[in-house]
Amino acid sequence: MERVYVGLGSNLAEPLQQLKAALAAIAELPDTRLAATSSFYASDPLGPPEQPRYVNAVAALDTALQPLQLLDALQRIELEQGRVRKAERWGPRTLDLDILLFGSRLIAEERLSVPHYHMHARPFVLYPLAEIAPADLRLADGRTLSELLQACPFAGLERLGNDVTAR
Ligand code: ATP
Ligand code: MG
Ligand code: MG
Repeated sequence: MERVYVGLGSNLAEPLQQLKAALAAIAELPDTRLAATSSFYASDPLGPPEQPRYVNAVAALDTALQPLQLLDALQRIELEQGRVRKAERWGPRTLDLDILLFGSRLIAEERLSVPHYHMHARPFVLYPLAEIAPADLRLADGRTLSELLQACPFAGLERLGNDVTAR
């Protein structure tokens, strides 16, 4: 089993419910255990500004799947939850599931690059990740999670309270 961190995001069709459904689907994946989930956060969108805010979270999984098998499974969940791939990058979507870290592996394949290329600069990834990962977690380039957090302001981000059912 390897520890994997997955970033979740949604800004369409009841984002919070999308994330909860995705977590339930991840928990059902073969040879995989959902080990922890962060709080939910609201965040300002990247890319085209005229789109709703996102809801984000990070999940920790332990899996015996290989990286491309996990990517296939996550993309299947995205599609099952109505993700439509459009030409426009970073446009609105019902669900985005990105593999942030896969053990300590460095993966540079056409379909999969790990660590996720931009996680170090995204507050909506780093702050939820910090809730469920050790602070001395190291990226392949040697930087620790706490160093990344220090360089990444808590900007455009809002931690949703425990009672988020009404949103
Ligand atoms: P960003 O990657 O900047 O967060 P995005 O998540 O919106 O943008 P997608 O449209 O979800 O991008 O994915 C585009 C492609 O990225 C996918 O088809 C997938 O093959 C590839 N990809 C590469 N590395 C990863 C990764 N670590 N996790 C998920 N997909 C990845
Ligand atoms: Mg993404
Ligand atoms: Mg993605």
